[in-house]
Order: sequence, then structure tokens, then C-alpha cells
Amino acid sequence: MIRVENVSKQFNKTRALKNVSLEVNKGDIISLIGPSGSGKSTLLRCIHGLEHVDSGKIYMDDEWMNPDDEKKFRAQRNRMGFVFQHFNLFPNMSVLQNCKLAQVEVLNKTDEEAEKTALEYLDKVGLLEKKDAYPNNLSGGQKQRVAIARALVNDPDILLADEPTGALDTETSVQIMEILKEIAKDRLIIMVTHNPELAEQYSTRIIRLLDGQITDDTDAYSEEQMKADIQEKEQKLSDAQTGKK
Ligand code: ADP
Repeated sequence: MIRVENVSKQFNKTRALKNVSLEVNKGDIISLIGPSGSGKSTLLRCIHGLEHVDSGKIYMDDEWMNPDDEKKFRAQRNRMGFVFQHFNLFPNMSVLQNCKLAQVEVLNKTDEEAEKTALEYLDKVGLLEKKDAYPNNLSGGQKQRVAIARALVNDPDILLADEPTGALDTETSVQIMEILKEIAKDRLIIMVTHNPELAEQYSTRIIRLLDGQITDDTDAYSEEQMKADIQEKEQKLSDAQTGKK
């Protein structure tokens, strides 16, 4: 579903990612772990297209996410939702308005359609009765549930989460992880976490980063597999060029 091929990213003199490759698929909850500064957020942001890579390529369903192909890139990015550690909700908007806004802006939905979808997802995260509340009147766990509903209103195939439980206590973290687990059934979830117990308990795969490189992967994308995939892709391209089916 998402394939990262030899991606590097540098900020001034810091090499945040060094030749990172991996492939991740639907149904997985991937935890990115590693010490602070190891490149976890940068990897997540590169996958989301918030950061552009310096070299290497990222593919979604075998299609290169090329930022220069603006229309396609936007459509690819719209298939991903993003959840932040500090929720990033608009404080002067109600819960319902926060969830509606994401759709009206991105998908040009009518107000009615947006409201219907927003209510549906607020119900899924168990927050329907708070639809008219403002974020400041909600607990951390409730805010994160709104943020998850907001990330889901466009029905993304992929949910990216940067420390979604980082600002929450243990009990609330477990509730949020249970929601994510439910969501992951027909989606891909990639999350950054500092909590090894939650990673262990809820993820289907754990990827450890250190100094911008993957040092451990419970389900590694092997060098051989990557070469085979590249070869297959090149073959398809050359077949297409020569008109073969
Ligand atoms: P992690 O998420 O594992 O804590 P990050 O991906 O945030 O790590 O950061 C990796 C490295 O890149 C760090 O050394 C960090 O300081 C640097 N970095 C990340 N984003 C920026 C940025 N926008 N500008 C400058 N340096 C950055």
C-alpha cells in the first residue's frame, strides 16, 4: 500500500533520514519507535507529503507520489488522515464544526453531506453527545477522539498518527488505541509512539529507528524483495512502452 524506497531527508546539517526503505500494507498497525531525534516524525511527515524528500521515492499502491504532479499528489494525500499529539482542533469551533470543516474544504461536499458524515464518525468514536461542545471543554481523550473522527471523515485508507497518546494518561491511551485497532481493520495505521507497551500490545509490526535509519523491523522489507519489486515495476513500464499486455 505504501512503499518507501531509499528515502533521505536533510535539514541543514542534520540527516534526519538516511536511505530508508520499507513497505507497509492494509490491516496493519505499524508503530514507529526509537529515541527522540531518530527520524520517526520526519518519516511520517514524508509519507504524508508534508515534507518533501531529498532523494528516493514514496509510492502509494505502486503509484509514485510525485509532488510535481500536483493534482495526483493532492488526490493521493487526500487518501490519508493525520492525527497529532496535541490534537490541533480549532478552539473557536464546536466539535461538529471541526469535523465538518475538513470535508467542506477538501472534498467540496455540501454542508448537509458533511454534517451527516461528521455525525456518523463522532458516533463511531462515542462522542455524539459532545457535538456542540468546544474543544476547551473536553478532556484530552475526548479531544483526541474528535481528532480521530475528523481524520476519518474523508474515509482515508491510511491513518497517520504522531504520538496520538503522547499527551494522555494510561487508561485514556488504551481507549484511544482500542479505537485505532477497530479502525485498522480495513485501513493502514502508521503511528509514532514513545510507549513501548502500547506498541507491543496493539501493533502488528514495530519498526525501530536510530539516527535516521531503520535498525529493527518485526516484518522487514528485505533488500531482495525491494529489488524484485523494482524489477517488476520496470518490466511493467517497458511492457507498456512496447505495447505488450
Ligand atoms: P523523532 O520524531 O524521532 O523525534 P524527528 O523526525 O522529529 O525525530 O527529527 C529527526 C532529526 O531531524 C532531529 O535531529 C531533528 O532535530 C531534525 N529535524 C526535524 N525536523 C526539522 C526541521 N523542520 N528543521 C530542522 N531540523 C529538523
